[in-house]
Parts: sequence; structure tokens; C-alpha cells
Amino acid sequence: MKRIEDYDKVLPVLELYRCVQSEGSRFGRPTIAVRTTGCTHRCFFGEGGWCDSWYTSIHPEKGTFTFNDIIKIYDDNPHIKEMMLTGGSPTMHPALVNELTHFANERDIIITIETEGSHFLDTDYPISLISLSPKFSNSIPVLGAITPQGKVADERMIKQHNKFRLNYEKIRQTLDYHKDYHYKPVWDGTDENLKEIEAFRVKMEIPKDKTYIMPAGDTRETLIKMYPLVFEMCAEKGYNMTGRDHIIAFDTERGV
Ligand code: SF4
Repeated sequence: MKRIEDYDKVLPVLELYRCVQSEGSRFGRPTIAVRTTGCTHRCFFGEGGWCDSWYTSIHPEKGTFTFNDIIKIYDDNPHIKEMMLTGGSPTMHPALVNELTHFANERDIIITIETEGSHFLDTDYPISLISLSPKFSNSIPVLGAITPQGKVADERMIKQHNKFRLNYEKIRQTLDYHKDYHYKPVWDGTDENLKEIEAFRVKMEIPKDKTYIMPAGDTRETLIKMYPLVFEMCAEKGYNMTGRDHIIAFDTERGV
């Protein structure tokens, strides 16, 4: 696969910071977040609001970091052996992701890549953990909804959002090729959404112990309201639950 040749070139990496993984099966581990910019989707969750990283998707900002910056943050934090590669949609940047797999292999770093499943990447070294959060029908923008920067949602935006949504073939290839995965859908508290989450799980033959249900909500206030519902539902149905503790801790602050 393609690689990054120039380590001083500015990449589509918008945020690079040290934090603690607060979602999914690697919860609680210190990590380095590498946030890419650009996404094929345009998620709108009704009362749950727009994509919580809308500055990488609906109104994408430009990247500012180089590969050398990524090396430096690991040199400065030699105790950290994890990477949270998130977005936006990191799989839109195959050369960058591939280069990171080489770096991770050299340094013994576990990469968790957050993906909605739009694209399959056959990286030179398989990725340690695919964190799969497919987007269901409750993510489709509603005509006339106003985006965080004042754009009106139109048919074009809806078409763009649905173009790679639930790309089953690419998702299957992704789960089969890389080392491990977990399924981390966001649940909005409705039966309708839960049916879609479960139908996807069954279709893709994902075991319940690899399923982590995450509450919808992009602010501390909205999230806390969802927690008891998710606790009860997971206890009843046998899924794992994951919170979003960075939002509980820091609310809407970026870079945490
Ligand atoms: S797939 Fe993820 S990053 Fe892209 S718009 Fe949806 S929530 Fe945002």
C-alpha cells in the first residue's frame, strides 16, 4: 500500500493529543489521539444534534500536523503504547493509516481505529483493533436542519451521507482482514434504533461480547440522561455497555 514519503508534510491530521481511552473494549488506557479530518458521512441525530466532531466532517477544517509531530508526541510520552486513530473518517487517508501501521509495528503500539465502515484498507500490517460504529437510519440529516455553521441540510447532503452508509461488503472485509474488532453502536433510546443495531449484529455475525452499546449525546447533560436507559437495556439484553467518559469529564471541550 501507499506510504507517506515526506515526514515534514502537513497531513490531514487536525488534532494530536494525549488522553485516556474512554470508549469501548480498551477503556481506561492512556493513549495518543490522532484525529484526521474529512468524512464521507454527514450525521445528524435529531435531538442528539450533529456529529460531535462536525469540524472534521460537515465543516471540515484543514489538518495542521506532520508525521514528525506524531513521532515526537510518542517520543515525549514513552510510557504510552496505544493510539486512538479517529476522525472524521481515518480510512479516507489510506497512505497515512498505512504509515501509522509501520510506525506502530516498529514501536509495539496498539492502534484502535474508529470507523463507520465506509472503506476497507488492506494495510501492510493489520490494525490491532477496529472500533466499528456503523451509522443507522437515525443518523440521516433532516431536510431543512441547520448545521453547526448555519448551512441548511438539502437533498445533496442526504445523498452524500447515504453514499457509503452501511457498506456491508467493506465492513465484512475490514473485520476479516484486521487483527480484532469491537462493534460500538450509538443507541438513541428508541426501539426502532435498537432493532437496527441488533439486525446489523446478527447479519454480520458479531457476538454480543464484542458489542459495546454507547449512549447517544454530545454534551454532558444529554449523555447523563441516557446512561440509566443504556445500563438497564444492556443488563436485560446481554450487550456490553460503554460510556463516553471524556464528555462526562470535559463536556464539549475539544482535544481531551
Ligand atoms: S461518521 Fe462519525 S465523523 Fe463522520 S459525520 Fe458521522 S459521526 Fe461524524
